[in-house]
Amino acid sequence: MSKSNKLLLSIVIAVILAVLTGWALGPKAIIFELPGVLFLNSLKMIIIPLIFAAVVKSVISLRNSNQLGKIGLKTFLYYFITTSVSVLIGLILVNMIAPGEGLETLNAKANENILTKKDMGPSDLILSFISPNIINAMAEGKVLPVIFFAIIFSLALGFSKTRYLDNVFDEINDAMMKIVSWIMFFTPIGVFGLITARFAKVGGAEQFITELKGVAMYVLTVILGLFIHFLVLFLVSIYLGKKNIYFLKTMMNALLTAFGTASSSATLPITIECAKEAGIKSNTRRFILPLGSTVNMDGTALYEAVAVMFIAQSYGIEMSFTQQAIIFVTATLAAIGAAGIPEAGLVTMVLVLQSVGLPLDGIGLLLAVDWFLDRFRTTVNVWGDSVGCTVIDRSS
Ligand code: ASP
Repeated sequence: MSKSNKLLLSIVIAVILAVLTGWALGPKAIIFELPGVLFLNSLKMIIIPLIFAAVVKSVISLRNSNQLGKIGLKTFLYYFITTSVSVLIGLILVNMIAPGEGLETLNAKANENILTKKDMGPSDLILSFISPNIINAMAEGKVLPVIFFAIIFSLALGFSKTRYLDNVFDEINDAMMKIVSWIMFFTPIGVFGLITARFAKVGGAEQFITELKGVAMYVLTVILGLFIHFLVLFLVSIYLGKKNIYFLKTMMNALLTAFGTASSSATLPITIECAKEAGIKSNTRRFILPLGSTVNMDGTALYEAVAVMFIAQSYGIEMSFTQQAIIFVTATLAAIGAAGIPEAGLVTMVLVLQSVGLPLDGIGLLLAVDWFLDRFRTTVNVWGDSVGCTVIDRSS
């Protein structure tokens, strides 16, 4: 068995063992948290330098070969179309299944985190592109302003006569990717630790099942929608990306890490490494994957649309066609605005709820199971980025 197959098999076993251990041990499983946090922190440690070096390097090369405009346009077109399709799948399913009808909403209460975002509007999304303090943005791990700065910086660098920094960024990139390959070695232990600890925090199997029961149909609707969109993307990778099942297998390492960490950003280093293994050109993967990890979130968009419709249904509020069209647009915006970190989608949902005048307290209905759904939608987010990468790579 090859080295990468062995690693993949170990991660699959780790995920299964983690679910069983967390299920059986309940709160006691918290003892496994340490390796999980160490793994997560190691990934987070390299995100910013990796993104910066990767984006600068690829923008310089794309600009030199006059491809930047074309690739940029194709990327945004891909993001727009696939995210729209995912929201549409969510809306169709939630209308058909109607998981919120007849549900008890009396105890629903939004938490502090949500209530402080009450005034969030579309302008916040635009503002999040530029940070007044780039060092601060880097320190806080805010990916979007760092990418924006990296693009502007590399465009400006294009005017340099010496080209001295080109090689420097190349070497930083290679060094970062070397570190990624070392960290990847620990993926099985890390993923095991993260999943078992999450089960422990929920209070184990019994507690989880109790919480799941009340909103089981909603959970099923989201997971079914995500599954359908995953298959749609798979078909896209076959027809437009000219890939086959091996592409899915090659990306599986990243997908399982996304499931374990619930963070597209933390998974990014591994996604880039897997894309390299899948034969995607360096300029494409270095440009599209960092951008996609924060902007292109198909899973989050689908989930936001289903969740908001679920809240409306459970309050007995009928959503007209026009209101659903507003949900369609705002769910897409909310997904773009969500950072690639755990449960970010839950917070940006405020934007969608407010756009159609629904009570923010409705979010209280979703809180208990959100950590669980987050893992599935993050996996679809990373899959969407990976497929996008291969489609655009193929077309250029
Ligand atoms: N956790 C998701 C991600 O990192 C974002 C979200 O939907 O909460 O992609």
